[in-house]
Amino acid sequence: MVTCAIALGSNLGDRRTQLDFAVAKLQALLRGLRVSRYHDTVPVGVPGPQGLYLNAAAVGGTQLTARQLLEALQGIEQARGRERPYANAPRTLDLDVILFGDQMIDEPGLIVPHPRFRERRFVLEPLAEIAPDLVDPVTGKTVADLAASAP
Ligand code: AMP
Repeated sequence: MVTCAIALGSNLGDRRTQLDFAVAKLQALLRGLRVSRYHDTVPVGVPGPQGLYLNAAAVGGTQLTARQLLEALQGIEQARGRERPYANAPRTLDLDVILFGDQMIDEPGLIVPHPRFRERRFVLEPLAEIAPDLVDPVTGKTVADLAASAP
């Protein structure tokens, strides 16, 4: 069983309903799921004005591989009709693999730990609520440390 951390985000449509939908699916997918509060956040690094995001983090155990987990997350995104008209477009539901045990993966379409999570307060703050002691295998820092030093 591997402990994995997932980031959830939505800034289109009924954001709370999108996250509730994802959480229900994650309940069925992962063991002992823990979920953070939902955080309203200002979009960063996106083109043009967009509405606030609702972000959360979830942690649970799995016997899937990281690739199988990613595919399951993409299936959940697609079930909410996510379209990708352009990079960083508004999204009904975005699910990212942040950490997958102590595994370091760099393959086409799958980089774990997520390459940008250390700069993302909207990932680190929710994750620190539920799993401050998870360790980033790349830097050796805990989620709590990363959250405290994020820009
Ligand atoms: P986005 O549109 O931001 O959700 O990016 C999705 C793309 O990022 C997909 O093509 C994934 O294959 C790729 N990707 C690479 N690493 C990850 C990861 N750790 N979690 C989620 N998607 C990833």
